[in-house]
Amino acid sequence: MTSLLVTNIGELVTWDDERPVIRDAALVIEHGKVTWLGDRTAAPDADAVRDVSGAAVIPGFVDSHTHLVFAGDRSVEFEARMTGRTYEAGGIRTTVAATRAATDEQLAANVARHVAQMRAQGTTTIEIKSGYGLTVRDEARSLAIARQATEETTFLGAHVVPEGSDVVAYIDLVTGAMLEACAPFARWIDVFCEEGAFGADQARAVLEAGTAAGLQPRIHANQLGPGPGVQVAAEVGAAAADHCTYLDDADVGALADSGVVAGLLPGVEFSTRSPYPDARRLIDAGVTVALATDCNPGSSFTSSMPFCIALAVREMGMTPLEALWSATRGGAFSLRRDDVGHLAVGAKADLVVLDAPSHVHLSYRPGVPLAVPLGT
Ligand SMILES: [Zn+2]
Repeated sequence: MTSLLVTNIGELVTWDDERPVIRDAALVIEHGKVTWLGDRTAAPDADAVRDVSGAAVIPGFVDSHTHLVFAGDRSVEFEARMTGRTYEAGGIRTTVAATRAATDEQLAANVARHVAQMRAQGTTTIEIKSGYGLTVRDEARSLAIARQATEETTFLGAHVVPEGSDVVAYIDLVTGAMLEACAPFARWIDVFCEEGAFGADQARAVLEAGTAAGLQPRIHANQLGPGPGVQVAAEVGAAAADHCTYLDDADVGALADSGVVAGLLPGVEFSTRSPYPDARRLIDAGVTVALATDCNPGSSFTSSMPFCIALAVREMGMTPLEALWSATRGGAFSLRRDDVGHLAVGAKADLVVLDAPSHVHLSYRPGVPLAVPLGT
């Protein structure tokens, strides 16, 4: 088989400027790429045909922020938090101890299990960070394992200062020997810029060192309170500032002016019972917004992009169409990718068929497994 016609598509979401949503559509795939799309009645012949019976077809989700290389879980911490305690960044150290103690095989099996869960829910592009090793050896092996699952790997040695380390000495390590060992397995450099983690000067130093080593910057910013993270992102030309829960007007202006993508991660606010970021304010200011799971065992142990879409619509002021855009095209912008997150001639044929006639059902029917990648 060389070409496949997917036809009888009730609603095809493309994100094309002229026709972002096409009703009664069809699409042709050849060698993993889209070679034609448009009105069903105008579709060319192909070697094989798949009739989706009026279902909606959307681009696969682009999950631009996950922490999948870890061992253990933190359900006890979650349970405690749900009885009244608040999340603090230090909880990361629990996962660091479990991750260091795990074998490469155990970590790789854990990554593979979570990636399979993501794919089964419609995610076709996944970013994976290190950050639970915090030694040269453990960060490098975390990234080598992540690289087996995706090209979108991020060195996050500056996740938290490991127990027993001095912050200045640790920054020297992260920007020196650790960066050198990790850079061959990473595309991105990231830092957790937050009270209790790393300050503005330290974040800048990490991102500049990473950039000098050929990596591209992104940042964890303004999650737990107001802070300098978003401004640092704009200064260094980061692709994305993720979390963006506590922003002042200058932060919103900096995101809009710089083109830094604001990555919103509502699984965190859900799982930590915290106030959600104000997506409406960002979109109205002209900021590019991405949605991602932040899948990690501490603050957001969900691998479901549809769940995040439902939260964004219900809790963050996004329309169903905006939330889908942010979970697909927005995620692709966050990863500086033009071949995924949309459907166009030449783009990857990362199609997801919904067991529904419209994308609205993703938030209208939360928790229901509607999104299935084509071919599964
Ligand atoms: Zn994160």
